[in-house]
Amino acid sequence: MPAPHNSADTPVMRQFLEVKAQHPDAIVMFRMGDFYELFFEDAVTVAPVLDIALTSRDKGAEDAVPMCGVPYHAIGGYLRTLVERGFKVAICEQLESPEEAKRRKGPGAKIVRRGVVRVVTPGALLDDEHLRQEEPNYLAALVADGAVPGPCSIACYDLSTSDFVVLRAAEPHVAQAELCRLGPKEILADPAAHAWLTQVMAPEQPRLEPLHTPPASAMARVRELAREGGGALEDATLRAAAAVLAYAEATQPGQTLLVHRLRRHEPAAHLVLDETSLRNLEVFRTNRDGARRGSLLWALDATKTAMGARLLRAWLGAPVRDRRIIAARQDAIGALVGEPKVRAKLQSQLRDVRDVVRLTARARLGTATPRELGALRASLFAVPELRKTLADLKKRRTDRALPEAIDLGDDLLEDLRDDLARTLVDDPPAHMRDVGMIRDGADAALDEQRRLAAGGRDALAAIETRERERTQIPTLKVQHNRVFGYYLEVSRSHLSKVPADWVRKQTIAGGERYVTEELAEHEARVLSANERALSREQELYLALRGRVSAEAERLVVLGERVAAIDVLAGLADIAAAHDYVRPEIVDEPVLDIEAGRHPVVERMLEVGRFVPNDTAIGGGSSTAGELARLWVITGPNMGGKSTAIRQVALITILAHAGSWVPARRAVIGLCDRVFTRVGAADDLGRGESTFMVEMRETAQILERASVQSLVLLDEVGRGTATFDGLSLAWAIVEHLHDQVGCRTLFATHYHELCALEGVLPGVKNVHVAVHEDRGRIVFLHQLVSGPAGRSYGIAVGRLAGLPARVLRRATRILERLEADPTGTPRPQLELFAPTTASASPAASDRGGLDDPAHELAAALAELDLDGLSPRDAHMWLVHWAGRISR
Ligand code: ATP
Repeated sequence: MPAPHNSADTPVMRQFLEVKAQHPDAIVMFRMGDFYELFFEDAVTVAPVLDIALTSRDKGAEDAVPMCGVPYHAIGGYLRTLVERGFKVAICEQLESPEEAKRRKGPGAKIVRRGVVRVVTPGALLDDEHLRQEEPNYLAALVADGAVPGPCSIACYDLSTSDFVVLRAAEPHVAQAELCRLGPKEILADPAAHAWLTQVMAPEQPRLEPLHTPPASAMARVRELAREGGGALEDATLRAAAAVLAYAEATQPGQTLLVHRLRRHEPAAHLVLDETSLRNLEVFRTNRDGARRGSLLWALDATKTAMGARLLRAWLGAPVRDRRIIAARQDAIGALVGEPKVRAKLQSQLRDVRDVVRLTARARLGTATPRELGALRASLFAVPELRKTLADLKKRRTDRALPEAIDLGDDLLEDLRDDLARTLVDDPPAHMRDVGMIRDGADAALDEQRRLAAGGRDALAAIETRERERTQIPTLKVQHNRVFGYYLEVSRSHLSKVPADWVRKQTIAGGERYVTEELAEHEARVLSANERALSREQELYLALRGRVSAEAERLVVLGERVAAIDVLAGLADIAAAHDYVRPEIVDEPVLDIEAGRHPVVERMLEVGRFVPNDTAIGGGSSTAGELARLWVITGPNMGGKSTAIRQVALITILAHAGSWVPARRAVIGLCDRVFTRVGAADDLGRGESTFMVEMRETAQILERASVQSLVLLDEVGRGTATFDGLSLAWAIVEHLHDQVGCRTLFATHYHELCALEGVLPGVKNVHVAVHEDRGRIVFLHQLVSGPAGRSYGIAVGRLAGLPARVLRRATRILERLEADPTGTPRPQLELFAPTTASASPAASDRGGLDDPAHELAAALAELDLDGLSPRDAHMWLVHWAGRISR
């Protein structure tokens, strides 16, 4: 019996193990012919994830190697699944054909050479099918000065756009806010920081990777970039940037990343929106279903290019506090708002500009296809059209000048565009392995090969004609197949006419096939001409792609300018379509908005249905004399309190982003942060109850808000017993008013808080108006001075369809509570005792009301459990406990 051999000990498996040893933490997809194979534990791990069969190599062997595989052409979908599940995947390709391997002499000959061409991770994606076009795809590194959480530096690099940004976070909450805004798909960090990152990045959950000391070359490169950018970097920032760069580079073996600029983001120069505010204000997506539709970004996005869509997202996520930048954007929107024709033309021309920035990155990293270079060329042809339209706009303006934010610059890369046009065919193929990428006339050597190939084909046709005449075989044909190459086919009835110099090659059902020496010669010439033509085409294509890659910096700059024009034309379009106004930006902490509207809610309603509202608040003491700094907003549920306070925050964000705003007039004082404590949501993932989350978020606001901040509080305190909640809300209002002095909008059902107006000088009561008609209410959605007269909770309950019996009983209790001579805050418990009129008719059958147990049962039957507040429930229990123990 032959000794069982070890199936892992073959040349190919040794090659695999070498590759795996270089990429121990990655799943290695090992190309073998038409398949990518996975071996050993990679196969065991991945087979169930990809839902493919796990088999083994050399099944009979003692140490059969577990394996599974996927067809090479279907790798895209499998790769996406693996990356989405957080795997790191090394793609190992065959670097030569089996024929080349056979021809090669020397060690290792005969086995095809293989090597990893790229490593794919969530933070190192390049392909369109994996990327969202309107979002960046950052790889981040976090380097803390000491322990995490604490002061730290963050660096982000987007391989798909080459955007490279660093920032310094003096406090952990700033780091958290920035990470949530940037939304990196993968973070390199010290393993000790992983737990904190997992907690603060929920629910995004980027892939976490251990941070390694970056190589000296990466450090040197970052230092150089920083020098060019005009500023030295802190040690932690330098290390974070170098780590990101080194990691990104390692995912693209043999390629040079484009790193042309290192941006430094200063959180203090921006209006900081933390994770809570981004979520609560639905800046990027809605809370309900996480959709883009219904978010602020959705409402403001009229961009036509992917680059524009990404830039708008960046502007809304990080609005600026620099009046010069804001004014430049406002000017550009102003120039376009009143020019509908120019705008329409610009926007239609922008549609022809493809994602120049991402196409450039793909060219740089050697993955751009001929079709993609064609798209780049089309974009470069579209850009001069944009310039013409902008020139027309310039002529129409009284100052004959274009606002700087929509200046396309002088460099439209006509040289590169013309090279592309000269070289690439009109409709380039999808792959580099396809013939027909390069135009006739672009290259003399290619033309010659093509001529030879075509000449060879003509010669074959001539042979066919000549031989047909010579042999008098009318059906004679020169044909071709992969096995025999070119041959002459003769049908059975003419076999007698075949000349002696033909060599028989094959007998077929209807006749015979022959070759001649002359045919073989021509065949060799045609084939080699074809082969040479294709390889020349590929050479030329690579040179062209190299040419694009060499111009990457210029292309990215142009792409960024187009993106800004796209965003501003889009914002002008929205401003014109929805009647926005240019806000006046001032340094004083005021918000004075006349006829403001909620940019999203108004779009969800029929045109003209949204009721505009005025808001005027001022922070600090300088403006407090004129404007209240804290509004207590009361009014019924569904009255529009939440909408009103959110719209103020959204208008503030839009104004800082440089957009115009939905209002008749707006004066916006620069803000450092917008804080929101709205809605109640359990965070069971973090093991916290609704009330705990509410209090934690409020505590953070009180700790971090400054006089420059805008604070929105919606029903703070409602998550606990009424008196506790009211007391907390009261103290919170006092603190914000006295200690912080920030602009605050506080929507509440605690009417008691209205007593603060007049006591605290900066507090003003406002309510949402309703119209009442015989117990039925109509919401007017109008903010009016003064406290709400009533809550209308019962009326809202009626609207919501509560049973009439419950509503009657509730009305009676409310009447008694309101008539209670002792007044608030603690009504007499007897008020809740059942009345004779409302007593259950069944009560007397059960032995009369004197029996406390029956009485209790009757009272219990009448309780409106859903409508009962915690305060009422508590008082009800205390009352009955007292009665029964008497
Ligand atoms: P609750 O106290 O129950 O949270 P609320 O007072 O905060 O209620 P909102 O959620 O702001 O009420 O508004 C309820 C609905 O009323 C909104 O979904 C919206 O359709 C409508 N609405 C709010 N404000 C306006 C407005 N200014 N114009 C027109 N419709 C409005």
